Amino acid sequence: MEKRLIYADAAATTRISPYVLEKMMPYLTEQFGNASAVHRIGRTARTAIEEARIHIASALSCKPDEIFFTGSGTESDNWALRGICTETGGRKNHIITSSVEHHAVLHTCRYLEKQGYRVTYLPVNSSGKINPDDLKKAITTETALVSIMYANNETGVIQPVSDIGQICKNHDIPFHTDAVQAVGYEKIDVNTRNISLLSVSGHKLHAPKGIGALFIRKDTPISNLLFGGAQENNMRPGTENTAAIVGLGAAFEKICSDHEEKTRYVENLRNRFEKNLSENKRISVNGACEKRIPGISSITVKNADGERILLMLDLKGICASAGSACTSGSSSPSHVLKAMGLSNQDALSSIRFSFDDNNTCEDIDYITENLINIIRKI
Ligand code: PLP
Repeated sequence: MEKRLIYADAAATTRISPYVLEKMMPYLTEQFGNASAVHRIGRTARTAIEEARIHIASALSCKPDEIFFTGSGTESDNWALRGICTETGGRKNHIITSSVEHHAVLHTCRYLEKQGYRVTYLPVNSSGKINPDDLKKAITTETALVSIMYANNETGVIQPVSDIGQICKNHDIPFHTDAVQAVGYEKIDVNTRNISLLSVSGHKLHAPKGIGALFIRKDTPISNLLFGGAQENNMRPGTENTAAIVGLGAAFEKICSDHEEKTRYVENLRNRFEKNLSENKRISVNGACEKRIPGISSITVKNADGERILLMLDLKGICASAGSACTSGSSSPSHVLKAMGLSNQDALSSIRFSFDDNNTCEDIDYITENLINIIRKI
């Protein structure tokens, strides 16, 4: 009998959807043209890229020429922070972020600190949320940028993005948000939320790996990340990865058509998962009291070794992860859970399950049944 395989690690990456793959295929085969070329194969690629840009802009309620393709969510985050600092550096040298950001933001901040920037890392409460009053207090005349993520990749907790945007607008400070986990579930309007820059990543959305985008509001002071040709309005040069861009556009097209249905479906799965575990006194759900994106459930199993549980789950064909993908493989406790007040021991006893619309109720019941058995044994 074939071994059952259940993928519950959608926050780490997702499978390319059949719709996305179908849209990409021509650009991986006969439509191989360079989008900068004047001939017909080149023009076909150019048209496809601009259509993808329109799909993304329409999902975020911005203009197509405010969308810039990048190589990943990490690149988008790096560009937002370094680009703003390069442009405003000398006049302003202060950045505000949170202590629960993805390393794509945190490590960029560490780099900028070495370049002489001052960075304020806002604390979070025990549910993982920042307090907008702390943001107000941290702002100075030197503040060049506020970068606070939309939804956390370990807990799914959503930050008070509207309040943050309003505060930044009142102080005329650009607001960057890493929306890599939120896009697809949250209806994001960059105008009503006063967002100046927003990062997205393809592989979290059933598009391929190695493609991302950065929304940059018009007139935001930002420098190029790269130098070279004229692609992406001279800002992010390099021959476009047409197939991946088309894939990202197709993923956004799907988001526009089925976002509410998908959100409801995945939320049901997550609720079923947490309800199945609710009787077990050793298990607590991190960030459970806050508004979360629907796919993520971070649990702590009292007095257990998270990595050991993961390996035992893997033997049962269940794929989950310990905290973020970037920290798995190392046994250091998650900075996110520690910022929420968990002890080292509890942080190391935590596991992230993340679901998408490829999962079923049967998957959830199989996972929880095996998880409870494993916890009983250890
Ligand atoms: N930001 C968040 C919140 C993420 O979850 C991730 C990936 O896990 C990234 C940024 C990095 O995205 P990418 O893998 O496309 O570089």
